[in-house]
Amino acid sequence: MRILLAKDAGYCFGVRDAVNMAYDTAKEYDEVFMLGDIVHNETVVRNLARSGTKVVADLKDVPKGKPVLFRAHGTVPELWEKARENNQGIVDATCPLVTEIHEEIKKLEGEGRRTIIIGDHGHDEVVAIAAQVSEPIIIANPEEAHTLRKMKKAGVVSQSTQMIENVQGIINILIRKVFDLRFINTICFPTRRNHEQIKELAVRSDTMIVIGSFTSANSKRLTQLALERNPRSYQVTSVEDLDPDWFKDSEIIGISAGASTPDNIISEIVEKIKIIGQITEKEEVYE
Ligand code: SF4
Repeated sequence: MRILLAKDAGYCFGVRDAVNMAYDTAKEYDEVFMLGDIVHNETVVRNLARSGTKVVADLKDVPKGKPVLFRAHGTVPELWEKARENNQGIVDATCPLVTEIHEEIKKLEGEGRRTIIIGDHGHDEVVAIAAQVSEPIIIANPEEAHTLRKMKKAGVVSQSTQMIENVQGIINILIRKVFDLRFINTICFPTRRNHEQIKELAVRSDTMIVIGSFTSANSKRLTQLALERNPRSYQVTSVEDLDPDWFKDSEIIGISAGASTPDNIISEIVEKIKIIGQITEKEEVYE
């Protein structure tokens, strides 16, 4: 039995930087406040809470003099303004690739286009992208794209973690509905790499393991991509979820992880699978 670990499994640079910023700020100021969880991973959130990170529902719940951290997936302009008005110390952990999407959608609006965002309704990143322009249309899937009325001029961006297949499906429909359509592919490169790796790895592997929280849309998408190619694909959040039966008659075990899964959980799971499969070799990195 061999383990092939996807090279880009786990934290993307945007999430890694944001988590490190949260730890550093909590260390410096004893406490740091956030409007919602920094990543969709219960273990990370729990560990951060122990080091002084506090999650609040509203800016007014942040005590005077304490910093507020704006998370990797972006923050609506209204909150930026409020925090500045309150002279709140702001720690900006917005991923630069998310900031790029904000810039792109503003440019599309500046060109006189109706703006369209391909993304999950209600997801924080999508909410912050939408807040950059007036009256954007949010489309989550091709079924929603079919309901759109014809229009003259539109510009499209996507949420950074979208699957290319979903985006392509929607664009194919929009081409028939919009006379002058401009599409900027804003799926971020860590997402693209992670998706491409899992598509290949799931095919090569006898058993495919995806590590990530079920609250993480990103991890669920990886599992979906793996399952479409290999029915012996399983999503786990921790070592406790592993079932030894999954590895019976398996020669190659593929492993990947969502962008919000920390390194220590990946290592623990790799080690546990080695014990289950009596593997003495080091895992191989799959590029
Ligand atoms: S998923 Fe992409 S856009 Fe989002 S934080 Fe990570 S690198 Fe940045």
